[in-house]
Amino acid sequence: MTATSADQSTAKVTKPATKSVLNESKQIERAAMLIGMGARMQVLESETTLSYERLIRLYKEVAGKSPSKGQLPFSTDWFLTWQENIHSSLFLNIYEYLSKGIDLDAVDQLTKAYRLYIEQIEMAQVEPLLSFTRAWRLVKFVDAGMLTRTKCAQCGGQFVTELYENRHYTCGLCNPPARAGKSKAAGSLMLH
Ligand SMILES: [Zn+2]
Repeated sequence: MTATSADQSTAKVTKPATKSVLNESKQIERAAMLIGMGARMQVLESETTLSYERLIRLYKEVAGKSPSKGQLPFSTDWFLTWQENIHSSLFLNIYEYLSKGIDLDAVDQLTKAYRLYIEQIEMAQVEPLLSFTRAWRLVKFVDAGMLTRTKCAQCGGQFVTELYENRHYTCGLCNPPARAGKSKAAGSLMLH
């Protein structure tokens, strides 16, 4: 009698609390996963609902060190330079490909695409130039309409470019810059 009513009242009180605890543990899990992938504070603040102080503590716990200070430069230039562009394009192609398949939440799509990018890079035996935080930034630039993909007129591959690239765009693989030596070009990443 009193036990049941007590149970009911507890249930009423704890229900929303349980929900928020669940949500919080999900947020912590997500933050820890992102830290493990090398995400910087900007990413964590953007992709979780945890407070800055909370994230700092979690970062120290998971990474075993304080997060690096300073913001990433807010510029699209990095993604447009030669080898960086090839890596960025590989990642973005994987990311866009995943968006056509199963319905993934934005963070899952990002982390999945990044893991696949790293796999490709390891198979090609080259250094991964694109960090997880850069990959996140790239997606933000694309979402904001500051970068897009353009088809190379020569090889037909899709490459990260500025929005209004001309129709006869040639990618960095088909037309490597003069500074790229033959040996370097051979060791670099191919997209097709
Ligand atoms: Zn090309």
